[in-house]
Amino acid sequence: MITNEKIYDYDFAIIGAGIAGVIAFYNLTKEGCSCIIIDKKDRSIPYLLCKLVCEHDFPFMPEIPKNNVDIFVRDHWTSIYASRNIEALVDGKEFGAPLGKLADEYQLIQWYLNKGIEYGGTIQWKHEVTGIKILKENAQLTLLSEKKTDIEAEVKKINVKAVILATGASGIQLQQDLGFQTPTILNSITATFKNDPSLIMKNIPADYIFRLHPQISLEGMLWLNRAIDYFNIGYVSSEEPKEMGIKFLRILQNYQPIQQYFKGLEKKIETLTVKDFHYKKCTKYPIDAKVSDRVVVIGDAAGLLYPLYLEGVIGAAASAKIASEVLLELNKNESSFTTQDLRKNEKLLSTRILNSYFKMGKISDEMFFRGNEKPPFTIWDAYLNSINELQQLRKNIWIAYRCQDLENYPEENDLWCGEQIYKHLPLSKKVSLMPFFLKFKFIS
Ligand SMILES: Cc1cc2nc3c(=O)[nH]c(=O)nc-3n(C[C@H](O)[C@H](O)[C@H](O)COP(=O)(O)OP(=O)(O)OC[C@H]3O[C@@H](n4cnc5c(N)ncnc54)[C@H](O)[C@@H]3O)c2cc1C
Repeated sequence: MITNEKIYDYDFAIIGAGIAGVIAFYNLTKEGCSCIIIDKKDRSIPYLLCKLVCEHDFPFMPEIPKNNVDIFVRDHWTSIYASRNIEALVDGKEFGAPLGKLADEYQLIQWYLNKGIEYGGTIQWKHEVTGIKILKENAQLTLLSEKKTDIEAEVKKINVKAVILATGASGIQLQQDLGFQTPTILNSITATFKNDPSLIMKNIPADYIFRLHPQISLEGMLWLNRAIDYFNIGYVSSEEPKEMGIKFLRILQNYQPIQQYFKGLEKKIETLTVKDFHYKKCTKYPIDAKVSDRVVVIGDAAGLLYPLYLEGVIGAAASAKIASEVLLELNKNESSFTTQDLRKNEKLLSTRILNSYFKMGKISDEMFFRGNEKPPFTIWDAYLNSINELQQLRKNIWIAYRCQDLENYPEENDLWCGEQIYKHLPLSKKVSLMPFFLKFKFIS
């Protein structure tokens, strides 16, 4: 029973049951801590969304059974990088191993939740955490149940030693109330199409496709991934969801390079409406402080996405694993979970991903999205031409997908790629973009 009389109802509360929250739930319950995971939604309701889990993510989620085909629906061998004019293919077969796996997000999350329950964890669906009071002896959470038509919302209080804030891009108010910065917030839109598996393979030329197109978005790619009997396509933008819905309809129904993907669909593309899309907020660029007294912020809430591709499984998994390690150690030492005690979290996060792989990600984000005085993305086109021409460049990309020790990520590979991109720029751009490229050499 949940009461507010005890000093602690649980050791830890995890707010948010996305990938970040459930990995923390698993890690903490597995070591015998009493934990509650709370989500304002019911995350046990199935949905179809496939996510790329790169090989370099797995060291942060070593427990996950990589051969479970319900979770990892296919190996991810091929990525196509595209612009308006050029397409470039990176194929793991060229170097003998896949780039990663395509994971059904729902199944991935359920696996971690079920393990957490097995280890004695508690789940609370459809409760929003509306306030957190940090007290000397504990953290006190206020939970508001979902309001039903005939029943008033119920308020609960629970007391814990420390809180993991894994609220993604939709818990910003809570985050701000606790004095944390918020990352940049963008909107994402996704469409999911079911189709015959053989048609999906025939129609879609790669496991993942990233297309940078100035008329679609100046903040992210039009992306597509293929599962087995469905595929997802979407993009990210700073535009409002309503505008994005109308634009996305136009893209799906008219943009020629993608029309082949929709052949043989049961639901005809002409019959789509804006209500068929899934809208979600997402974040970009890490916040500075990710801990304060009795609180650790992880995953999207902390902006932990590799910015160029909005690759967030890595940030979710790494920050969940690191936060769990730190909390477990402090719990053993009967800490009061002060900001000072929790600083180790920041240090580990910086060394394991932020100062290496993510640092290079920030540079490439700036290079491809901000390096063009105006669209169209000249540097991106030069990158695609380099991929097509240079096997070593394709190999460096393959290494980046697969690197098992991101703490020692080979930055020199990215620098070399940068030089090749510069060489592939049109002559007229070489002069104007020279200072821009030199700046990156110094930063790295
Ligand atoms: C469409 C899309 C496709 C993507 N594809 C990929 C990909 O292929 N590969 C990749 O690496 N990354 C991908 N990303 C990014 C990646 O999925 C995210 O970075 C990652 O899933 C974030 O997980 P999270 O747990 O931090 O947040 P979320 O998954 O957003 O979970 C946050 C949870 O917190 C709950 N919550 C929020 N506030 C409260 C509150 N006050 N009380 C209770 N509950 C609350 C929400 O209901 C939600 O369930 C994609 C992102 C999007 C949007």
